[in-house]
Amino acid sequence: MVSSLNNFILDYEPFIRISFFLSILVLVAIWELLAPRRPLATSKRIRWYSNLSLVFIDTLTVRLLLPVQAVGVALSMGKYDWGILNNVMLPNWMGIALGILGLDLVIYLQHAMFHAIPAFWRLHRVHHTDLDFDVTTGVRFHPIEILLSMGVKMAAVVVLGVSAIAVILFEVLLNATSMFNHGNIRLPGRIDRVLRLLVVTPEMHRVHHSVVIKEHNSNFGFNFPWWDRLMGTYQAQPARGHEGMIFGLSQFRNPTRLTLPRLLILPFFETGKYPFKHRSE
Ligand SMILES: [Zn+2]
Ligand SMILES: [Zn+2]
Repeated sequence: MVSSLNNFILDYEPFIRISFFLSILVLVAIWELLAPRRPLATSKRIRWYSNLSLVFIDTLTVRLLLPVQAVGVALSMGKYDWGILNNVMLPNWMGIALGILGLDLVIYLQHAMFHAIPAFWRLHRVHHTDLDFDVTTGVRFHPIEILLSMGVKMAAVVVLGVSAIAVILFEVLLNATSMFNHGNIRLPGRIDRVLRLLVVTPEMHRVHHSVVIKEHNSNFGFNFPWWDRLMGTYQAQPARGHEGMIFGLSQFRNPTRLTLPRLLILPFFETGKYPFKHRSE
């Protein structure tokens, strides 16, 4: 039973990934239309074009530039019984659960590192320059950040010996929760309080997109909320409230300077100084 499920997941991996991505994207987008948390401040068309183009470029970059993905590394590790989890006797489900948990901790630490180290922050600030916060913000990442992130994940798979199934489930889960917790969606307070004990909710991750430095240096979790609470980086609410808080970074306030080509070169130039001028400047 378990092995047939494993085979199904391995055989239909691309189909599972794309169908989860599209379903969650559409579901959260509809939720945003029916019950938005706040009105958007900038052009949705321009932001959606940039953010969705980035996820397309990111996927293409990883597929074309890397000969192998985290799943491929996990398959090799399993074949030769390398890595911690491949060398301890555990029920199949527990190995998968520990693999997912381990990868999530690594991604939390990587996110904190992308904020702490200036060269990495240059890449990650593309995610933070969004002047609004909605489902597409969850896929707004510079392609080099995605490449580095894949490298970190592969190293974690090698050391921890995470199974290929756990890697696929983790990546699908992370993709889904990332779009959910960037949703500009209304969620009743009572439900949010219970839900944020299990998963990072939009109310929790929204704090991370605040223009206030102390606030965007908190709530680094993308998937499980426990690491922030354990490491002391948890902030329950933004100081100005969810309606009053400002999104983005203080040095990037002009939406005409945050178009797709500019986002791609943004890591390589000092704050706001670009090699070409916009016609409105
Ligand atoms: Zn961040
Ligand atoms: Zn975010």
